[in-house]
Amino acid sequence: MLKDSLEVLFGKHGFDDYRWIRADQIQVAHWVRFKCMFGCSSYGKKGTCPPQVPAVEECRTFFAEYKEAVLFHLEKAVEKPEDRVPWSREVSQRLIQLEREVFWSGYHKAFMLFMDECRFCATCAGSRESCVKKEDARPGPESLAVDVFATARSAGYPIEVLRHYDEIMNRYAILLVE
Ligand code: SF4
Repeated sequence: MLKDSLEVLFGKHGFDDYRWIRADQIQVAHWVRFKCMFGCSSYGKKGTCPPQVPAVEECRTFFAEYKEAVLFHLEKAVEKPEDRVPWSREVSQRLIQLEREVFWSGYHKAFMLFMDECRFCATCAGSRESCVKKEDARPGPESLAVDVFATARSAGYPIEVLRHYDEIMNRYAILLVE
């Protein structure tokens, strides 16, 4: 793999804080799915969130089909909770364009996981079938049962539970590529 040329693309889209990881460092756990099902207000309402995504074991199998991945670190603090939405949307637009350009570079398995649920629309259509941007919408790591805490820490990145919206967030997107 020509990592140098891919890293040029990462920089072109404004992603300078990332680490190459082995795909088996992406840790999948059932407890993550349970957190989606019991406690998250997006459950059943978003086109890239459970139950619109594959079962946990299918997610595990999906990640096992890759050898390498890139973990992108996105750091941000917001003044108001609603400020997260436009930031997330803007980052996701850059991430999906990056996935597209990595694919065009010859990496036919390139697949991006956003750092958040898909927020392209003000109101999500709520299912894969009714999604209005099927080519662009991607799940976040948690939607595919990724234990982001364990995965980020295994790469030497920071992540903590936050209690207030104005604390600095450490968010992570993942590009699967080989
Ligand atoms: S593109 Fe729009 S409809 Fe599709 S998953 Fe994202 S927010 Fe929902």
